[in-house]
Amino acid sequence: MTRVLLASRNAKKLTELRRVVASAGLSGIEIVGLDDVPAYPEEPETGATFEENALIKARSGAAATGLACVADDSGLAVDALNGMPGVLSARWSGRHGDDQANNDLLLGQLGDVPVDRRGAAFVSACALVLPSGAETVVRGEWRGTIVSAPRGASGFGYDPLFVPDDEAAGGRTSAELEPAEKDALSHRGKALAQLLPALRRLG
Ligand code: IMP
Repeated sequence: MTRVLLASRNAKKLTELRRVVASAGLSGIEIVGLDDVPAYPEEPETGATFEENALIKARSGAAATGLACVADDSGLAVDALNGMPGVLSARWSGRHGDDQANNDLLLGQLGDVPVDRRGAAFVSACALVLPSGAETVVRGEWRGTIVSAPRGASGFGYDPLFVPDDEAAGGRTSAELEPAEKDALSHRGKALAQLLPALRRLG
């Protein structure tokens, strides 16, 4: 069994990453999380792009553990905010990981923006860094619209505000989709799908 580290502290994101990898049926690979390896100092996410941040996390995981390491950096790019909050999505309200405050702030900012200009995209960059030093970084995007009031209780982050453009979502927010439905459409699902061939080769 080849152990592959999924370097994420976001428990809900980790669940999604694990689910996508599990449903791909990769054999010969065991996915471990940060809690399964000795603690190591994690570098701050100082990159200007999702790709840079994903690489920062995957490089430090691979260097510290000697394992192949996958990391995701993701966020919401809102058209009316010129692509913000972008890499600052997790701390948009000023407090890292405060989903409620982030969502409230975003809704307030878009208060006067009409529905035809409320387009946005979830973006995920996923990096795979091997013990050999080989690096792969891929990107997935998911287009949709920001609604004016939150709906739904699954998922995390901005999910209750985001209605995907996909017909399959039928006007539901991503927090109203079943987990498997979200995986099939989402930015993270699309990014990880591109890493699966490289992960399969490790098995
Ligand atoms: P990261 O952990 O630094 O990559 O920050 C990701 C942030 O982007 C999260 O805290 C969420 O606010 C937002 N985000 C990323 N992916 C999703 C998603 O699938 N649904 C909702 N919010 C997301």
